[in-house]
Amino acid sequence: WHMLWRYPVLALLVTCALTGCARQDSLDRIQTRGELVVVSRNGPTTYYLEKTGPSGFEYALAGLLAQDLGVELSMKPAFSLHSIFDKLRRREAHLAAAGLTLTESRAATYPHSEPYDSFVTQVVYVAGNTRPRRPEDLVGRSIVALADSSHVQALQALKNNGLERLTWTEIPEADTMELLELLKRAEAELALIDSNEFAMQQGLYPRLKVAFDLSEEQDMVWYLPPDTDNTRLLEKINAFIGRVREDGTLARLREAHFGHTQAVSRIGSHTFTRMMQRALPPYRELIQQVAKEYQMDWQLLAAIAYQESHWNPRAQSPTGVRGMMMLTLPTAREMGVTNRLDATQSLRGGARYFKQMKRRLADDITDPDRTWLALAAYNIGMGHLEDARRITSQQGGDPNLWRDVMERLPLLQKRTHYKTTRHGYARGLEAVTYVQNIRHYHSILQWQDIPDKQADAPLAAGEYVPGDIDNIRLKSL
Ligand code: GLU
Repeated sequence: WHMLWRYPVLALLVTCALTGCARQDSLDRIQTRGELVVVSRNGPTTYYLEKTGPSGFEYALAGLLAQDLGVELSMKPAFSLHSIFDKLRRREAHLAAAGLTLTESRAATYPHSEPYDSFVTQVVYVAGNTRPRRPEDLVGRSIVALADSSHVQALQALKNNGLERLTWTEIPEADTMELLELLKRAEAELALIDSNEFAMQQGLYPRLKVAFDLSEEQDMVWYLPPDTDNTRLLEKINAFIGRVREDGTLARLREAHFGHTQAVSRIGSHTFTRMMQRALPPYRELIQQVAKEYQMDWQLLAAIAYQESHWNPRAQSPTGVRGMMMLTLPTAREMGVTNRLDATQSLRGGARYFKQMKRRLADDITDPDRTWLALAAYNIGMGHLEDARRITSQQGGDPNLWRDVMERLPLLQKRTHYKTTRHGYARGLEAVTYVQNIRHYHSILQWQDIPDKQADAPLAAGEYVPGDIDNIRLKSL
């Protein structure tokens, strides 16, 4: 007998034979099943569907863990914090990965990993209203927070420690965007939200601002089911987190998923004209040639290439897209591109993909709307665009008009909408900015091509509000 324990595999087999594997711990069960089941929230900071498939910070990180364990990843969405912990209690998931804050009361019930990130809790208010500056200022204001969140626990602690008159409303079965919606509709004055979540969504709510940080940096952790033998699994997870932190993977993932919140649309107003004189000339003929092959307007292809890479054939982004047209690896493969950093191949791949999008749209959509809608699909994926078109019809708009669909694309970021769509959350606002920027560059390129005309100084795309670029573009034409 004693000899057996020196051979773990044999020992396990014997144990299984004797007890029917009743002694399996969670790691054994995951490996037997060949699958790591992770519960998360469908939302921008956690887990959602991109044009290339599932995405999100938690999805990516959990995927690496699954790889590490040599199993498949299976994601389960949950639509409230309550149901996340519920799923853990019922052992319907091996792990909860959902931007969850480490709190004492949670830790008392649920085993948790080492932290993989940290955020502060922010108090958000509507600019123009009285700005609270410290916890005491919260008394007497209408405050909203997610039910079962770390933020509610923080409010309760303040109440217990002197602010007896502090009150708040808890939003059940909801995501943080609902909180911001309540502020926007003036149904509440203040909301409590994690800094990363607010940064992701602030673009949709230009009037909402941070009043002050309610907490120090708080750790984000993964939680595990209670009353389970998690010892070995936790060791594995913590070793994994330690490794991805050390080797820079974690920092890269953060940048890929949260980095763009600062970068989006921050295009200096003179950059385009400057680039048009400097970076475009070496590629102008190539772009013209490829556009001809694909029977498209060269200025449009040039405008897309600028929006994608600023005409840099060696461009790369932390999300893994690269080249002049910033193709993803799957798209490049599908388009027959073998080297994404080759400008000709990249332009051809992009042009082909764009034409494919244009072809796939419903027959009764006519140009120019067909072009703008195809560009939106190019950016966000056909499934999400179709979702936005469906919402447009439901709201009485014309799903064949870019102007109408453009107004609804940002709704794909709002839970009230994306929970009912076929493809779920998508960065709709970004897709709108993408198309509007291209239209803007396109018009400048066309304008500049007319002999004896000087290019207009482009607008600052960062200042863009739906509708604005359009109006000014018309004026400049
Ligand atoms: N981190 C929060 C929690 O663990 C949830 C996200 C939020 O409410 O901003 O409860």
